[in-house]
Amino acid sequence: MSANETSTRINGFSRILPVLLCRCPHCLRGPVFAGLIGMHETCPVCQARYERETGYFMNSIFFGYVISFVLVIPVIVLLALFRPSPVQFTLGIAIAYAFIAPITFRYARVVWMHMDEMMDPR
Ligand SMILES: [Zn+2]
Repeated sequence: MSANETSTRINGFSRILPVLLCRCPHCLRGPVFAGLIGMHETCPVCQARYERETGYFMNSIFFGYVISFVLVIPVIVLLALFRPSPVQFTLGIAIAYAFIAPITFRYARVVWMHMDEMMDPR
């Protein structure tokens, strides 16, 4: 069985836990990140290169928008309950986003890599 056949047999449901744990989209075992935002260039387990081509992670920006929006909605609802001024409201969202940004960055890339691996296996 080739690596390509292995990758195509991994369906979306079996990828949920590896995505949550930020694991390699190819083998589902190797860690993608070396630190909070520092990425490994290749998978430490299967040696698959994470950045498949130049500009590869540009598509993850879309996922970043979606993830950010979903994570900021509870903050918006919570802030709206306190009826803040427009400046307080904006500052509240900016402060919340400062904490959400690293999460968004990591999961946008991991979700994109897993989606790409499912659509175009190596
Ligand atoms: Zn791997």
